[in-house]
Order: sequence, then C-alpha cells, then structure tokens
Amino acid sequence: MNEPRLSAIPAQVPTHSRDRLGRPLRDLRISVTDRCNFRCVYCMPKEVFGKDYQFLERKELLTFEEITRLARIFRELGIEKIRLTGGEPLVRRNLEQLIAMLAAIPGLDLTLTTNGSLLKQKARALKEAGLKRVTVSLDSLDDEVFMRMNDVDFPATRVLDGIEAAAAAGLAPIKINMVVKRGLNEHSILPMARFFRKQGHILRFIEYMDVGHTNGWRMDDVVTAREIIAMIDAETPLEPADANYRGEVAERWRYKDGSGEIGVIASVTQAFCRDCTRARLSTEGKLYTCLFATNGHDLRVLLRNGAPDREIHDAITAIWDRRSDRYSEIRTAQTAKLQKIEMSYIGG
Ligand code: SAM
Ligand code: SF4
Ligand code: SF4
Repeated sequence: MNEPRLSAIPAQVPTHSRDRLGRPLRDLRISVTDRCNFRCVYCMPKEVFGKDYQFLERKELLTFEEITRLARIFRELGIEKIRLTGGEPLVRRNLEQLIAMLAAIPGLDLTLTTNGSLLKQKARALKEAGLKRVTVSLDSLDDEVFMRMNDVDFPATRVLDGIEAAAAAGLAPIKINMVVKRGLNEHSILPMARFFRKQGHILRFIEYMDVGHTNGWRMDDVVTAREIIAMIDAETPLEPADANYRGEVAERWRYKDGSGEIGVIASVTQAFCRDCTRARLSTEGKLYTCLFATNGHDLRVLLRNGAPDREIHDAITAIWDRRSDRYSEIRTAQTAKLQKIEMSYIGG
C-alpha cells in the first residue's frame, strides 16, 4: 500500500499533545501476546486461565509490521520509550525480528519485561537484535514459595540462570521486579534484597494491585512500600534517592553504605497518576490510557482498513487529548470490583 510517511505530516501539527491533566504522552507499553507459560496467582489464576480459556487467535494479533508502523507513529507523537510485555513476551515466536524492527526507529529507548523462563536461550539473540536492557520478574529465591506463586512448578534457579545469561549478553542494567503478596512471599523480601545487592542488579518491590477482575484482590493482601522499606532499612540502612526523571514509577532508595539501590512501586498506597505519561497497546491493537481501564480504542481497525499514517496519528492525539484517568488516586473497595482489563492482556 502506498501511504504518506510521517515525514509528510506538516510541521505545524502539534505532535506532543497533553491530556486533560496536562500529562504528555511519553511511554508506550506494547503487549505482544496474551499467552504465558506461568500462571502467577496474582495475574493469571489457573481457575480462570485454565485449559478452556480462549486466548486470542493468531489473525487477531497485530503483526510485527503493524506494531512497528504504530511505534513509528507514536514516536512522532513524542514517545521516548517502548517496553514490550505481555503475557510472556518471549513466548511470541521470532520476537527478535520485532526487536530489530523497533530498534531501527531513531531515538527510542527499547526494553522488555519478562518472567525470565526463556531468557537463558534467548538473551544473546535479543541483544544482537538491538534490545538494550531487560526487567525480569522474580517473586522469591525460595523454590517452594516461587512455585506456589507461578503455579507451574517453575524453579527460581532457572530464572536466575536467565538473569545471568542476560547480564553476560550485556542486557544491562537489569532490573528485577518482585510483587509482594501478604501471606505468600513477604518472608522472601530480605533474602531477595541481600542477594540482588550482592549481584548489583536493581530490585524493585511492587505492591500487589487490583488489576483485572480475576485475582480476588483485597487491601489486606497488600504489603505496603513503607513496610518493605522499614524491613530492609532495619537490616541495612537506606536513604531516599532522587528520581532519575520526572514521572519515574519506582521510588528509589540507596543503601547508606554505598552498596547499591532498590526501588518500591507503591501504586496502591502512593498513587503516582499525576505524572503518568504511559499508554498501553494490547496484543490485538487496542489503545488503553490507563492500566485500570475498562475500554480500549481500536487502532487495528484503522490499520487494516488502510488508514494513512496521518489519520492514525490524529486518532491517537484525539484519544490522548481526552484522557483524564487517575484510577489509583481514586481507588476504593468499589472500584476494585470493576470489570477491568486483565494485566496479562494489557501488559504490566
Ligand atoms: N510475563 C512478564 C513478566 O511477568 O514479567 C511480563 C508481563 S507481567 C503482566 C508484567 C509485570 O506485572 C510483572 O512484573 C508482574 O509481576 C506484574 N504483575 C502482574 N500482576 C500483578 C498484580 N496483580 N499486582 C502487581 N504487579 C503485577
Ligand atoms: Fe505470566 Fe507475567 Fe502474568 Fe506471571 S505476571 S502470569 S509471568 S504474564
Ligand atoms: Fe497511570 Fe492509570 Fe496507573 Fe494512574 S492508575 S498511574 S493513570 S496507569
């Protein structure tokens, strides 16, 4: 198809639009698959995501070309960073090809969040394709606890092998995400902090969130960022560190002895909506302006109906201009029960 490239868009068109709360569009998370080889109890509980669960069909998924075309348009709109996610992004076949296509877009910071299960085999190819760094999710070093959380008997040692392979391939700095759920893995907080301080990777603790509507979230299950910081500080004193940039999701803390840093993502107890510059693109091409959205905007229909870049560009701008999401700031027990989009579909 012969369509105008973005360079053809007249210069007077405002590209860095701001939403109703004055927030620019800076980051895009792209979910490349709704499938996963884990069944983490807080994300894809087996009772819901069982044998009969209907995942998207192949033809419904955006192709690599479609994803790349949208990524270019988003880049024109001011996006600086793209994070690939899922589901488990590394289960999407030939993901390296997509990485190479996205890495060719100038000025884009490209990264990926993975459960680490396939990283040992894939780290080198991902690096060679142009990926800069990775975030690996790991909720405990204790196999028994970790297996109870991933619910597919996957041992922590194999994720650690993946992390080692990523470091060896130069996918650095590596960040480790640990979701903490009360009664499941709060005893793993200190062993994880000790281990990754030695390894030199940045461990970030994530408050358990009420994403989707299948994980049976209750506020009582949230181990708060304050509790986590207090626990670690009592063993190895910490001091607050400045954010790397405005809108950084993780609050940074440094070990006073200079041995490294950790982060806490307090999306439940200290909402950071006012600086939220993130949009999310689902596997089938729906654009969501909040992790807790109930509806997305269909961009695939524009792509597949032959819309020129210009029209897609304007559609995204119009969606962002109307945005007023601030779910975490107004969360209540009632909003937690809303029929929200699942995290495994929209990407974390
Ligand atoms: N499968 C990949 C992984 O696990 O890293 C990428 C997708 S996953 C949905 C992205 C991130 O969301 C992971 O770090 C995961 O731990 C986090 N996550 C999933 N469900 C969550 C919940 N209910 N509360 C907080 N974080 C959650
Ligand atoms: Fe899969 Fe990641 Fe969700 Fe766990 S958190 S079930 S690894 S998508
Ligand atoms: Fe952004 Fe929505 Fe999360 Fe607030 S609740 S930080 S608006 S994604």
